[in-house]
Amino acid sequence: MLQHIAIVGSGPSGLFCADALIRQNPALRIDVFDRLPTPYGLVRFGVAPDHQGTKAITRQFDRLFANQQIRFCGKLEVGTTLPLAVLRQFYDAVILAVGAHQDRPLGIPGAGLAGVYGSMAFVGWYNGHPDFAGLAPLLDRPGLAVIGQGNVAVDIARLLGKSPAELASSDICAHAARAIQAAPLSDIYMIGRRGPVEASFTSAELAELGKLERVRPVLRRSDLPENLPSGLDPSEAKVKERNLQLLHDYAARDDDKPVRLHFLFHSAPQAILGDQRVEALAVAGGTKPLELGCVIGAIGYSTQALGDLPAPDAAGRLPNQDGLIEAGLYTLGWAKRGPSGTIPTNRSEAKAVADRLLADFADDTAPAKAGGAGLDAWLRQQGIIASDFAAWKRIEAREAAAARPGAPREKLAQWAELDQAIQDTQQQQAQQ
Ligand SMILES: Cc1cc2nc3c(=O)[nH]c(=O)nc-3n(C[C@H](O)[C@H](O)[C@H](O)COP(=O)(O)OP(=O)(O)OC[C@H]3O[C@@H](n4cnc5c(N)ncnc54)[C@H](O)[C@@H]3O)c2cc1C
Repeated sequence: MLQHIAIVGSGPSGLFCADALIRQNPALRIDVFDRLPTPYGLVRFGVAPDHQGTKAITRQFDRLFANQQIRFCGKLEVGTTLPLAVLRQFYDAVILAVGAHQDRPLGIPGAGLAGVYGSMAFVGWYNGHPDFAGLAPLLDRPGLAVIGQGNVAVDIARLLGKSPAELASSDICAHAARAIQAAPLSDIYMIGRRGPVEASFTSAELAELGKLERVRPVLRRSDLPENLPSGLDPSEAKVKERNLQLLHDYAARDDDKPVRLHFLFHSAPQAILGDQRVEALAVAGGTKPLELGCVIGAIGYSTQALGDLPAPDAAGRLPNQDGLIEAGLYTLGWAKRGPSGTIPTNRSEAKAVADRLLADFADDTAPAKAGGAGLDAWLRQQGIIASDFAAWKRIEAREAAAARPGAPREKLAQWAELDQAIQDTQQQQAQQ
């Protein structure tokens, strides 16, 4: 009988699924696990710090945890600290919503030099992910390249180009804001092998680049077709047309702004040059290598192979059939379909997998497993201390209290600070 469900990953896909499950069967008990003590996955660590409106979805997720049937179990990495086999022993069904957090390698010579970063690490650095807060990227040269032509590449270019005033109401971490402000950046290159029509950024993100105080988009007019090719999907054609208009507008501008943002289309990166660190980037068709000190790869992600979790396939996803990995084990979100789609994309998919799971168990007569009570006993036996939703609320309160004027929060980005908040919560709970 279906009673206890474990969802691994507290990002949008895991939480949309918890919501869909509990709406259909309010008697279920759902434990949501995360390796971090802070929930919400890439809403906290991916979505750009100057896009606070997008992050507002967390208020909806907060309300979900007000439901007594749903529990947050943080600081438990499933696969390692907490083997999947143990979860399967205690829960009737397990859903892996672990996302795709491993940067795809650039795969060109020089990719191992100091000054080359993947976008998960770089974005995590400015967004206060405790694994990346100490990244200290090399931003000491006027040139920097972002390789990729999607919204993540656009986010990074925009954040690097913004003035302190433009970042004032964001929750960019103080360490990153200071480093960006001190960087002598004058030339940011956004590089990709595709053309302006094929590039996957969306119009709203592209339009923002044209409104920045210090940034001047630079393009070769010869890279831009006058019209779209025929035969495009009509829904896609609308975005592409708007993008092309914006790019034509940028190409016609002659602003005098201190940071040039070069769009290099049809330009596959060939090799990163340097001895100990990045000095230049050779690009196909380029006459001479671009002088720069930092390269950020934003070319996609894969799900990590970890402990006793299922191994990802060649495309970096957990092998599954419409969300089913094997009887009682499911997957969702970026782990299921790869790193594409926005937050709302995960909602409809999560609902479909929830429906499937409930249907799969409709005639199940096996006795329910021990659930959270069984797991808690196992954790105590192992001496493992998880963090809970109250600890997250304490972290959140400390972040709000530490915010600079006008900003929503200053994130606790160090493991030591997060651990302190967890410890303080547990002490208080022990006294009650
Ligand atoms: C840089 C960036 C910017 C983005 N900006 C936007 C935007 O502006 N708007 C928009 O709509 N979408 C945006 N997205 C996309 C959006 O973030 C994703 O669609 C969404 O987060 C995917 O949800 P998910 O739940 O599958 O994965 P995630 O959000 O990645 O959540 C996975 C969770 O699983 C946890 N986890 C991983 N492994 C384990 C483990 N072994 N044990 C326990 N827990 C684990 C992680 O800590 C994480 O909390 C952006 C993505 C990126 C990378």
